[in-house]
Amino acid sequence: MVAGSVKTITSTANPVIKAARALHMRKARAQSGLFLAEGQKLLWDALSAGWQPHMMFALQCDPDDPVQTLAAKVRAAGGDVIWTNRPVMEKLARRDNPQTVMGVFEERYVPLSQLAGGTIVALEAPRDPGNVGTVIRTADALGASGVVLLGNFADPFGSDAVRATMGSLFHMPLCRTDLAGLQSHAASIGAAIIGTHLSATTDVRTLAVSEPQILLMGTEQSGLSEAAAGAATRLVRIPMGGSADSLNLAIATAIALYQLRSPYLS
Ligand code: SAM
Repeated sequence: MVAGSVKTITSTANPVIKAARALHMRKARAQSGLFLAEGQKLLWDALSAGWQPHMMFALQCDPDDPVQTLAAKVRAAGGDVIWTNRPVMEKLARRDNPQTVMGVFEERYVPLSQLAGGTIVALEAPRDPGNVGTVIRTADALGASGVVLLGNFADPFGSDAVRATMGSLFHMPLCRTDLAGLQSHAASIGAAIIGTHLSATTDVRTLAVSEPQILLMGTEQSGLSEAAAGAATRLVRIPMGGSADSLNLAIATAIALYQLRSPYLS
């Protein structure tokens, strides 16, 4: 592995800074295949999970600052290190109180065939990046084997989604497909598809569960489409009290996933 280079950039007008800042926009991410991850924790998570950093921006710091160790690891993993100042970090983060480091990584989706067992979480067309990030974090915390995104979904590599994953993005395999792809994968690995639906009559707590299984969640506005509900082996409901007509998507995923994974948690 060739070690990454080291540079200093202190102008917000520098083209490297402009190109990195553009990664807040989905179009620029789609064109480059790159995304931003802000903060030391996320960079350490990425390195520990074997992700190769493309680049790291860091606020200039003392030789004994822990960011120097991180920078050395990034370089050893082949990433370029760019030392910079507060105005540039603010520009990159698009806010006044940025973290001291920002990483640039290549987006990564794995083929569905890599999710061969366990409990897989599938989201039908989630629109809210915060929900997507929180589901990825929850799926990681509860030992799911991966997260599958169906249809027209909020980008998991957008800054808000990445932040909400709290580093789990680097540990949780992500796939994208359509409903037919999910159904044929379920058939090929012998997994039941457990759909969550407000009109279901089966209480999720009564379900006898066994892996492999796929937990299928609906979109925020309109819930599971008819086609997705029809593709489910079982439809389950999370019982509720009070006057709310539904649970937030990420909260519902956490409750249902906890139920499905509980025999496997310690
Ligand atoms: N108005 C939508 C509907 O009619 O389904 C609400 C969608 S809810 C905000 C987003 C997703 O969370 C749902 O599609 C379902 O997957 C899950 N969900 C939320 N509350 C649920 C509950 N009580 N039981 C089962 N699933 C629920």
